[in-house]
Amino acid sequence: MTLRFRSFTDVRPEVASFESYEPGLSIAEIAERYGLEKVVKLASNENPFGVSPKVLKVIRDKAGEAFRYPQAGNPRLVKALASFYKVDASRIFLGNGSDEVIDLLFRVRAVPGVHNAVAFKPCFGLYPTQAKMAGVEFRQVPLNPDFTFDFDKLLDVVDEDTTLAFVTSPDNPSGRAADPEDIARFADALPPACLLVVDEAYTEFAGAQCSMLPLLDKHPNTAVMRTFSKVYGLAGMRIGYSVLPPALADYLWRVRLPFSLNILAEEAALAALEDVDFRDRTIRHVQAERKRITEGLQAMGCEVVPSMSNFMMFRPPNGGPGAREMHSGLLLRGVIIRALRSYGLPEWLRVNVGTTEENDLFLQCVRQILEEK
Ligand SMILES: *Cc1c(COP(=O)(O)O)cnc(C)c1O
Repeated sequence: MTLRFRSFTDVRPEVASFESYEPGLSIAEIAERYGLEKVVKLASNENPFGVSPKVLKVIRDKAGEAFRYPQAGNPRLVKALASFYKVDASRIFLGNGSDEVIDLLFRVRAVPGVHNAVAFKPCFGLYPTQAKMAGVEFRQVPLNPDFTFDFDKLLDVVDEDTTLAFVTSPDNPSGRAADPEDIARFADALPPACLLVVDEAYTEFAGAQCSMLPLLDKHPNTAVMRTFSKVYGLAGMRIGYSVLPPALADYLWRVRLPFSLNILAEEAALAALEDVDFRDRTIRHVQAERKRITEGLQAMGCEVVPSMSNFMMFRPPNGGPGAREMHSGLLLRGVIIRALRSYGLPEWLRVNVGTTEENDLFLQCVRQILEEK
């Protein structure tokens, strides 16, 4: 195929059809728009406790190192993660957030116009966008109506040119987790060219029994992606990691921009891994508050999808304000949650666990909005 450019502003066709990333509403914007003093954001699944004090101290202490380049390949963090998860260091790959890992997987494992990738629908927005950028066909099959996973249906769209299959567990936006034994059976049924990528960004909130990590030895075609953005409270630092077949980890390291993980991010991640108290406290809080928010919403007649994560998907009861009105009513009161129109779920909303006070405020505002009608 020839594709002659006519102008110095022409771009690749994949790029021309890209829409700009729609950022979530910021606290400052909402405060200004509605004249509010206090605004809480429960829309991006961030850690309610913020940055751990121990990690914050390390970031401050190490700020003076910012003039140096990071060590290419971030060997200290690789080693720390390998010993933390008791896996060989040759299997670990780090990225500027899981986002970079996803992007590189498409570019390394899929030839444009030849290979395809599969996932459930809805799924994390970055899989289809990076597939598109890479020129790779992205096939999706719907989740079950209750947002559980039908792996046989996903298998139906896999063929010998499928080189990537993505499964998110616990899933975003539903919060549902798949049984690792079911994922393992799916892995075993995949054709030889296909790598199964299990995105475990939220797995710490689900408990150890939900992870594929212990099963990787028996299922060598499977990779696990994790992140420091959620349970470790470092979303703004951009640190993702993955456990991969060693040969693939090696290729990903070769093509990754050498310094994509910056020096403060690496120090922060090393300190965060050691801070067992912060992680445990976050998990305990999320699990307790998740239950309380779920029961609170249910008591008001909302339908809530049972969540294994740090967020919940819910819809308001019939006959009252719909998701749209609930979303805008909450904004007016200074509570930002996530509308799910872009996920193709216009009736549903997603709220993440905040501090106890933030969760109280959220539940109180939902009650007000439901009673207004
Ligand atoms: C938040 C999230 C991630 C983490 O992405 P980072 O780039 O590491 O911040 C990955 N996958 C899913 C499904 C997520 O929701």
